[in-house]
Amino acid sequence: RRDFSKNLASTNGSLKVSEERVTVLVIGGGGREHALCYALERSPSCDAVFCAPGNSGIAQSGDATCIPDLDISNSDAVISFCQNWGVGLVVVGPEAPLVAGLANKLVEAGIPTFGPSSEAAALEGSKDFMKKLCDKYNIPTAKYQTFTDPSNAKQYVKEQGAPIVVKANGLAFGKGVVVAMTLDQAYEAIDSMLVEGSFGSAGSQVIIEEYLDGEEVSFFALVDGETALPLESAQDHKRVGDGDVGPNTGGMGAYSPAPIVTEKLKRKVMESIILPTVKGMAAEGCKFVGVLYAGLMIEKKSGLPKLIEYNVRFGDPECQVLMMRLQSDLAHVLLAACRGELGSISLTWSPELATVVVMASEGYPGAYKKGTVIRNIDEAEQVSPAVKIFHSGTALDRDGNFVAAGGRVLGVTAKGKDMEEARAKAYDALDVVDWPEGFFRHDIGWRAQKYRHMVAH
Ligand code: AMP
Repeated sequence: RRDFSKNLASTNGSLKVSEERVTVLVIGGGGREHALCYALERSPSCDAVFCAPGNSGIAQSGDATCIPDLDISNSDAVISFCQNWGVGLVVVGPEAPLVAGLANKLVEAGIPTFGPSSEAAALEGSKDFMKKLCDKYNIPTAKYQTFTDPSNAKQYVKEQGAPIVVKANGLAFGKGVVVAMTLDQAYEAIDSMLVEGSFGSAGSQVIIEEYLDGEEVSFFALVDGETALPLESAQDHKRVGDGDVGPNTGGMGAYSPAPIVTEKLKRKVMESIILPTVKGMAAEGCKFVGVLYAGLMIEKKSGLPKLIEYNVRFGDPECQVLMMRLQSDLAHVLLAACRGELGSISLTWSPELATVVVMASEGYPGAYKKGTVIRNIDEAEQVSPAVKIFHSGTALDRDGNFVAAGGRVLGVTAKGKDMEEARAKAYDALDVVDWPEGFFRHDIGWRAQKYRHMVAH
């Protein structure tokens, strides 16, 4: 193992500089991981950044050295890589390797890992687990019951009435939720999950949940097992089309901060939802280390936040705007989380706003063509120093052109003194990208505009 205790000779402006430097491995290969690499690369405590598998755009940007051949589903291979290259911190981006237990194996091998154990990842992997924790620790969430038998589920729906929400218990990649406005829609969803098995084992148990009416908000906190540190707010745009129409996607754009998340709401969420979850998990012998990403509903009738769901990783594309605004030394902060020392950390953020507009392949979230050529990415990035393009799904063809290799392909991100300026820069850059087979939403940030009369903090 290498020695990471080299002293850093210079301090860097307002950044908090630690004395320890570390080589970091980021697991994943999407826009979220690109943003993490970008922030780590600029982190004074970070010696070098690897990303496995990464993608062509991450490699070309110079934000990390990509390791496309490292099989991230093989924990022994990841451990060997870390030992051979002196990796002192692993940051796991996506949920699948966490649920599969990669963090457990890395921690057992003595490698500091930012990301929960498979047991703690059940907060996302099992809605039933999350709901039971809420019951036990008094965390506000929608009233619910769990069923495996379709007729019992339908009987319950009939008693409760519509609107009502039907959810597959397991990981269904964001698609296992039906907000049924009528009883028939609810019966259909129950049949589809419990009788037809349309979500496989993820849908062999369903949760039927009270419908919450209000505004949805995402909330992010770093967690070190015992305590939590809230991040700045960020809001995504789930629907594929302008004006929030069309099917749900992985996320078509985001902005930060989200003016609806006032300091008062932030405190309320921390004290009623995040901290009881962290303490509850520790009390259950299942300490959570990583990012808690809470999907909340601010209920119209009470104005109070209720938990809809937990994710155990950063949101994509919210991570892109958060990393654009973070000024703290990310490697130092994430190491502190791995060591249970978040209590000593305070985060510094750029006062500027950031927005990201996702460019996706025509047809996404349905079928789309791969391999179409994208030109002028570098030129687009040069529109302004405040623009950064994160690669979610690009590859290089034989001639060295970028080609689309996924549904969501680029995250065109920009900072500005206000939302108007950030949006203008991002859309100016989008105009320069030459990709006839790509599309994007034209209205990212509209919800923030709606709240522009409110003071963010
Ligand atoms: P989930 O995967 O649990 O986040 O659910 C996906 C989406 O379904 C959420 O982002 C909400 O828009 C909606 N949803 C989930 N649960 C509820 C609920 N109890 N009441 C109203 N809408 C919900």
